[in-house]
Amino acid sequence: MIPDSAEKSFSNYKIVGKHRESETIMSLELMPVCGSEVTPFTPGQFVILRLPDPSGSGSLLRHYSISSSSRLTQSLRISVKREMPPPHLPNVPEGAGSSYLHKAEVGTILSLHGPRGEFILDRTSPRPVLLLSGGVGLTPLVSMLHELAHGTERRVFFVHACENGKVHALRDEVLTLASRRPGITTHFCYRVPTDADEDVRAYDSKGLITRDTLQALLPLDDYDVYMCGPTGFMQANYSVLRGLGIPKHRIHYEFFGPATVLVTDDDRAAPAKTIVQEAPPLPKPESVERGQSAGVTVSFNGAAAPTTWPHDARSLLELAESMGLEPPFSCRAGVCSTCTSRLISGEVEYFEEPLTPPAPGELLLCCSRPRTSVEIAFP
Ligand SMILES: Cc1cc2nc3c(=O)[nH]c(=O)nc-3n(C[C@H](O)[C@H](O)[C@H](O)COP(=O)(O)OP(=O)(O)OC[C@H]3O[C@@H](n4cnc5c(N)ncnc54)[C@H](O)[C@@H]3O)c2cc1C
Repeated sequence: MIPDSAEKSFSNYKIVGKHRESETIMSLELMPVCGSEVTPFTPGQFVILRLPDPSGSGSLLRHYSISSSSRLTQSLRISVKREMPPPHLPNVPEGAGSSYLHKAEVGTILSLHGPRGEFILDRTSPRPVLLLSGGVGLTPLVSMLHELAHGTERRVFFVHACENGKVHALRDEVLTLASRRPGITTHFCYRVPTDADEDVRAYDSKGLITRDTLQALLPLDDYDVYMCGPTGFMQANYSVLRGLGIPKHRIHYEFFGPATVLVTDDDRAAPAKTIVQEAPPLPKPESVERGQSAGVTVSFNGAAAPTTWPHDARSLLELAESMGLEPPFSCRAGVCSTCTSRLISGEVEYFEEPLTPPAPGELLLCCSRPRTSVEIAFP
């Protein structure tokens, strides 16, 4: 259920084009019905769609990263993977939102909120960029690549891992963008290439992305990393990147589902051995500013031992999930108020302004961080 005040922040967009990008991924081009321009966005951001619930009761909220260029003002594009039942549960229904979008016809009107999100390309940084994706996680990174292919000379490495050529989306678009100017390198890693992939040697490496692959590809430098993909991919590659000496605060990442805070054992103990050069100190990016809360503690549901707020945690919701707790949530963007919880003591601050301000003594977990030590109770 979306609160009335939040309801007003949704606008109608029409599907004006559909394009199959791979066996599993479909792009939809969306245009505001009112004839105005698309709300400006920063590459990496997502929109929230309100879609019909197949059970007939109410609606579903689903996030989709914008995969198009932020320079386009008339329309935006999302690229949606059709989620099939897990192999061990063949009788459960396929993903409700993604299957609706795959079947929706051109002309269908969708209710859209946004753009929103903190996983954004730092346009002011002079550093080289590593865009690292797995599967459908490439969508926000393709939007970033559009930006980086124009008006900058930053070195860019676009590294994408997927099963094989049949499910490799947006391949031609990425190659075309990479050919726009010198200094953009692509690397495609197929886990199990098909015979057709082998015939034309459609990939650059086979199997999983390894430390050796990245070390051979990336010249010694000081990178901004943007990473998005399945949880296992993110955890494995976060460790590889940290092992290559890339500082934590340079690794930006987004999960397409319930999130966790990425850490390595080394992060908890000693600093990683530096292979890729550490940069001289630079102004603190936003992710380090989060560390201002270091030393504050968080107690969920009257836990006897409060948890120290981790330096890199993004939201109280993500902290709770990383501890194995399961507070209710839906939009993860301050829109639906599903994660409203009781703030028993302490203060929080919002990095995304909630659409409906919580009542006194309440907070939204998905878009807040502690300002002081806090005690929180889930509904
Ligand atoms: C910030 C963000 C950005 C995102 N960007 C993208 C994007 O660019 N592209 C994209 O494709 N996705 C993206 N997502 C993911 C997207 O929001 C949806 O989560 C995704 O499309 C799946 O939603 P669904 O409704 O299709 O699946 P759901 O209905 O939520 O189902 C998920 C899975 O559960 C299975 N399932 C259904 N019922 C059961 C059951 N009873 N028991 C067990 N399993 C069951 C389904 O078969 C399916 O595999 C993003 C998510 C976030 C948070």
